[in-house]
Amino acid sequence: MNAQRTLRRAISCAGIGLHSGNKVTLSLKPAAVDTGIRFRRADLGGLEVPATVEHVCGINHATGLSRDAVSVDTVEHLLAALVSLGIDNAVVELNSPEVPIMDGSAAPFIYLIHEAGIKTQSKARRYLKILRAMSLTHADKRIAVYPSDRFKVTYSISFDHPLLRHQARTMRVTEQSFVDEIAPARTFGFLKEVEMLRQQGLALGGSLENAIVIGDTGVLNNALRFEDEFVRHKILDLVGDMALVGHPIIGHLVAHRGGHALHTEFAARLLEDTEAWTLVEGPEPETADAIGIADAVRVAQ
Ligand SMILES: [Zn+2]
Repeated sequence: MNAQRTLRRAISCAGIGLHSGNKVTLSLKPAAVDTGIRFRRADLGGLEVPATVEHVCGINHATGLSRDAVSVDTVEHLLAALVSLGIDNAVVELNSPEVPIMDGSAAPFIYLIHEAGIKTQSKARRYLKILRAMSLTHADKRIAVYPSDRFKVTYSISFDHPLLRHQARTMRVTEQSFVDEIAPARTFGFLKEVEMLRQQGLALGGSLENAIVIGDTGVLNNALRFEDEFVRHKILDLVGDMALVGHPIIGHLVAHRGGHALHTEFAARLLEDTEAWTLVEGPEPETADAIGIADAVRVAQ
């Protein structure tokens, strides 16, 4: 059985919201089986909003959730870290409406979850296994999911900019590959957009400490963490947004030029199309074919 997991103990950190610029304290707390991930506003008497696609509200530059009087913004990087480390049940408590941006990546949240420790629970986890292909296209933006034995993501981006004209990456997303290859990839934005965002009251907490800023000829930050850090961050965002379906996915997600609006609309449509998937208690065990010849030899010996 692939059992559900929660945190071993509660843990906190502090930071600022990327868009609001507000200081915020975030605590991650263990939760009972079948709780899912819930955001709790300590500053609003503990009102909660579950991290599910039916509660998606703002999707302009970040993914927000709301229910009644409660809202929480910029949930995607934290959700990506939680689900990639296999945390099914947790309460995320905040004293402000926006999750702290930290360094613009999911790495600080990975660190936090590892510090808290992970606890296996007594009930099986249910996965959403894709049975048939589904896609959604808006102009030049496209997202699709295909049946696959494992959770895989392909992402491609293209911009009219010399630095990141075209980047693409396909990977099998596992706990380890997410931690090593995706979690450290930071949010990015274009310098010429920053002023516009600020006029809209967004990116007020943004700085070179928490985002890659792209000027006309290069990045304003000293260095990139990966040559293709931009497309890796898009994978991070997609993993976080798709966490809103409420189950780990067994299937291959393929996205081109997506963003939070496309990701979350697709997550909602996927849940509605109940013939496209089924809930199962885990992926098929690895076969010799799937793990490759070298490993198969090792297994045989
Ligand atoms: Zn992001």
